[in-house]
Amino acid sequence: MSGSFDWSKYFRPYKHIFVAALLFMMLNALATGFYAYLVGPVVKFIFTGSFSEGDSLPSLLGLLGLQVGFGSRKAVLLLLPGLILASALLKGIGQFGKFYLMGAFGEKALFDIRADILAHIHRLPMERIESETGGALLSRLSQDSRLIGEAVVNALGSLFSDSMKMLVLLGVAFALDWRLACITFFLLPLVALPIIQVGRRLKRTAGVCQSETAALSSHVLEDIRAARMIRHFGLADLRSDLFFRINKNFLAASLKSYAIRAFASPLMELIGALGLSATLAYAAWRMDRNTLEPEHFVSFFAAVLLLYEPMKNLGRLNNWIQPGRAGAARVAELLNWKTEDNGSVAVIDEIREGIAIENLRFSYGEAPVLDGVNLKLHPGSMTALVGPSGAGKSTLLRLLLRERVPESGSICADAVDIGAFSLESWRRLIAVVEQRPLLFDDTIFNNIALGRSGAKRDEVLLAAEKAGVTRFVCDLQHGFETRTGEGGLMLSEGQLQRIALARAFLRKAALVVLDEATSALDAESEKIIADAMRELRRDSILLVVAHRLSTIRNADRIAVLERGRITEEGTHSELLALHGKYAAFAAMQFEE
Ligand code: ADP
Repeated sequence: MSGSFDWSKYFRPYKHIFVAALLFMMLNALATGFYAYLVGPVVKFIFTGSFSEGDSLPSLLGLLGLQVGFGSRKAVLLLLPGLILASALLKGIGQFGKFYLMGAFGEKALFDIRADILAHIHRLPMERIESETGGALLSRLSQDSRLIGEAVVNALGSLFSDSMKMLVLLGVAFALDWRLACITFFLLPLVALPIIQVGRRLKRTAGVCQSETAALSSHVLEDIRAARMIRHFGLADLRSDLFFRINKNFLAASLKSYAIRAFASPLMELIGALGLSATLAYAAWRMDRNTLEPEHFVSFFAAVLLLYEPMKNLGRLNNWIQPGRAGAARVAELLNWKTEDNGSVAVIDEIREGIAIENLRFSYGEAPVLDGVNLKLHPGSMTALVGPSGAGKSTLLRLLLRERVPESGSICADAVDIGAFSLESWRRLIAVVEQRPLLFDDTIFNNIALGRSGAKRDEVLLAAEKAGVTRFVCDLQHGFETRTGEGGLMLSEGQLQRIALARAFLRKAALVVLDEATSALDAESEKIIADAMRELRRDSILLVVAHRLSTIRNADRIAVLERGRITEEGTHSELLALHGKYAAFAAMQFEE
């Protein structure tokens, strides 16, 4: 459906379903043709009460193994309703099978597509995730893939089924009277032109509609996330005003799409009526001259009437195809985004000598954010990183975690550039305790257990004990089975950090990165975290991004990062003796 993306891989596995659907379509088409064909002779028989020489119905019944004498009016009268019912039944079975199987064909492929979209989102570089709004990503998974499904079921289904039906009915019409058929279907190309026009307009509005939907959901998502802030600052009116514009754009796009769609159907009908009038006029003229059998005309008329629906459906094909193509293009774009993995399979499972950061440079845009950073991290030691906000501390962590790639310089583990290892194996060595750790809507136990896949229950509980989680969990009614709720709203920052610490203990990581909470924690949490740090530094490389100096006074090494450079380095007392930035910072904090 879309240029550079191979959609067939999603649909090929289900081609047997498609083939089965085709068989049902064929059944449906043949039954429809037969139905049309039957109408003339039936009407004639009902009015005249007998067959005459050369009538097609008796020979047809003969084909079905039903021998009917010319005079047996009663038998035929009983047989005919049965025949009509049978063909209607076959038509219905065809219709059912076609619709259900096409639905299954599309939905099964969509099942795989949705799974791939989410898997791909998981493998995208953080840079991409940060630059996309949640709403836009979400709408690709839900809205856009639904459009693809509808296009497959409705457009592809209709393309085959209605074309078959049309061919059969055209065949019947031409077989009955080719001259009449020629006149009638001369008008066909006239139908195509306006439909193509409408399709083009629809494609344009469908694209606009999708991006408006994304803008709409982004705004709402943002407002839900910022619900607290909006209340505190009284931003409701401001946000609603902003939303008004987005909402209005959406309305405009929707109305436009409705206008176009509303136009399509009456247009088709009008053209159909035109064809019908012309046919009727010509048929009347022919019957007047006795060159057209009324019986044939009735069948012919039935075929033309039955042709209306498949033709209308084929005309509406674009209504499904265009939005489907727009959706497919957006999904394909997402699936074509480069993933963060470099494809390396080299594995690292421990860090023996340490991590060496050398002359590291990085920028998000023009201005350098890291401007030649040198730092060594040793196993069994604690390094603290301090510096003003915006100095580049988080950026340094991002490079360590390989969320970004350095512009120049290197980060080496045991003298091998970390870029050489597979991402998965590198990250498995690291545990990050974030400032405000995120919890999934799950139990506390499961939230800790994510620290290491396959961890045993005892190990999880031991990690929880070490991180001081057990202490506050004991007071909860459901203990470790308590659900945390989305975003872990019911826990304090200190408790959240303790859960994250438990994850880090469980992970048994070679490198533990602790991004200290900026706000002051409760005394209990503060002490637990200090104790935990002492234990973690014994077994791992501990890197702490510190906001309060009390936690890092006994760090083995403190590095002061300022405007992307490490300007001072040493122990707490060495740095105090230096009377530089750190000493000034310390004086300020301890004064407080
Ligand atoms: P710190 O963690 O020390 O507060 P950061 O590493 O977050 O500092 O930021 C360093 C600089 O990089 C800041 O000027 C910040 O504005 C900029 N920055 C951080 N993240 C991004 C980003 N995703 N895109 C562009 N600039 C960024």
